[in-house]
Amino acid sequence: MRHLTLTIVLGLLALPTSHAQAPAAADAQAPAPGRYAAIERLEFNRRAVEWAEPLFWVSDANRDGAIGPAELAILWGLGDGDRARFVRDGAFTPHFDTVYGKLRQRPSLAGLGADERLRREVVLDELAQGRPTLVQTNLADPRDQRLAAHLEKVARLIERLLARQNGVLGFDARIPADDTASRALFFRNQGPFCEAPRTETNPACNALADKPQKISGIYPASIQADPKFCEVLETRADADVLMQPFVVVRHKDGGRAAGKAATDELVAVPYEVAFADDMRAASRELLAAARVLDGDPSEAAFKAYLEAAAQAFLDGSWFKADAAWKAMTATNSKWYLRVGPDEVYFEPCSRKAGFHMTFARINQESIAWQKKLDPVKADMEAALARLAGPPYEARAVGFELPDFIDIVLNAGDSRSALGATVGQSLPNWGPVAESGGRTVAMTNLYTDPDSEATLLEQASSLLCKATMDRFDPAPRHLTLSTVLHEAAHNLGPAHEYRVDGKTDDQVFGGPLATTLEELKSQTAGLYFADWLVERGLLDAADAERTHIRDVIWSFGHIAQGMVTADGKPKPYSQLAAIQMGFFNAKGALPWKPDQKAANGADVGCFDIEIGKWKPAQDELARIVLGVKARGDRVLAENTRDQWVSDGTPWAERRAEIQQRWLRAPKASFVYSIAAQ
Ligand SMILES: [Zn+2]
Repeated sequence: MRHLTLTIVLGLLALPTSHAQAPAAADAQAPAPGRYAAIERLEFNRRAVEWAEPLFWVSDANRDGAIGPAELAILWGLGDGDRARFVRDGAFTPHFDTVYGKLRQRPSLAGLGADERLRREVVLDELAQGRPTLVQTNLADPRDQRLAAHLEKVARLIERLLARQNGVLGFDARIPADDTASRALFFRNQGPFCEAPRTETNPACNALADKPQKISGIYPASIQADPKFCEVLETRADADVLMQPFVVVRHKDGGRAAGKAATDELVAVPYEVAFADDMRAASRELLAAARVLDGDPSEAAFKAYLEAAAQAFLDGSWFKADAAWKAMTATNSKWYLRVGPDEVYFEPCSRKAGFHMTFARINQESIAWQKKLDPVKADMEAALARLAGPPYEARAVGFELPDFIDIVLNAGDSRSALGATVGQSLPNWGPVAESGGRTVAMTNLYTDPDSEATLLEQASSLLCKATMDRFDPAPRHLTLSTVLHEAAHNLGPAHEYRVDGKTDDQVFGGPLATTLEELKSQTAGLYFADWLVERGLLDAADAERTHIRDVIWSFGHIAQGMVTADGKPKPYSQLAAIQMGFFNAKGALPWKPDQKAANGADVGCFDIEIGKWKPAQDELARIVLGVKARGDRVLAENTRDQWVSDGTPWAERRAEIQQRWLRAPKASFVYSIAAQ
């Protein structure tokens, strides 16, 4: 399946935050609740990271300015996440009080030598560029809790496996006990190296004082001194064997042969042999998770995948596990799980699969929408065929939608230091990949209260007050828009459609074809919101909220720039620039240069004229669908260039969007699974 919502990292560039603020003054002896009101909530969460404590103040639910036991989440992964250490019988424990007292200060740098002091300052700056952002899951059913407990253990093993692949397993033992910030960095970044924009190239930035170099655990260290060692491997006669995705490369004799050229006698060793102890342990935990589902026919498909994955960790039968994974669907299980080696971007040669785990629940709201849309899909196709015009003709369509999932836990290569993947198509190899694989969209990321607050700040810096008043950040509006976008990929002229015998790649060239397919789907998604209103399937007010949410979505993509660092077009950014530029020109999204934005600070803002919206959206849909139906490359290029190129008044607007949007810090996701 040629599906393109893949691995879009929605992270935002970080800017200096207010992190360095002085600690709020308060008297430790003050009576409750003042006792726990010494640290502001966001600062509490940043401090917990710096002190490597697995704590997160979810929200000040009772608005007393103090953290309460019910407002505390215990995070997965860092240290001992046993809630009873911090909260017992609904009250904070003495241990929590000790930790709270510690969190009133930042970690001390007093008494350190100049180099070490500098390193620790830079480590704190690296941490400060991510805002801890909670992905919280409450599991009421004891059986679900047991299942999750086993998968949390699998997740720890997956992170050990990725650490072995990255050649950093156990390095954190070299971090002194008092250097909690470096421990937090090592956990967050899954290694000692820095990744945030302000610090990633700073040679002082490393979680270890001895500042190790990056040496992959997948290839012998001896060959990695050569910066072109990947090319050397790729050109060997046995490259096909050595560069298989699920094997490491080792010296045949364990690397002890003195006097031999470093690349002589290399052999491929399967993961399950090279990492046998952790692989076996992961297999046992997966089987234990499968046993939790014994006797439940409603989770038979999930159980079959757990067992197949457990087997693959023993014998490398990843393709068999893929078949069981694909057989698990959004309707035959309430869970989503992917565990094993998949993506290759993490390693220097981009050939080997990195260990990860994605554990999630199926988003039931998207299922409800899919059920609603399925009976009208032929009508939806007919509507797009009318907009596209000849030579396109309506065809019999089926909906192959991604699975919409709410993340419970990301681990290993899926757990990024900053930002997160919001869509993914897997697997990358084997029969299931060749037959189309399975695509997921992560629907609960960036929907937590802190992300919502950030979104409101970003929206109110760009929208005029009249429009901002109608903006509703509730996740359901974006969920609907995503469902409609994904449905539209199945409708109208798509990648398989041919005009004069040519596919869209052949007519437009790959990058433009991709942008057009995404533009088609996003524009048809807008169109279908109003189409659903006409059929009584959606409330008109909700359609308007969805449109405003889509404008904000577009601003977020425009803010990421039109091309990648190496000059490749970004399809989502470009489609957003085309759409919003078009609506702006048609008066549906006017720029009010003299008006203050809703935040009362920025001058110049966008309004949404809902009366002009629908005609503009119909016109754009006709253009885009017509371009694809006729294979009209000239109109496609002109449309793109009009809104995507530099040096135009619209490019100035785009720069303004980017400047305001990127003020917010990046999300650094942390995970909590609570039993309640
Ligand atoms: Zn898409």
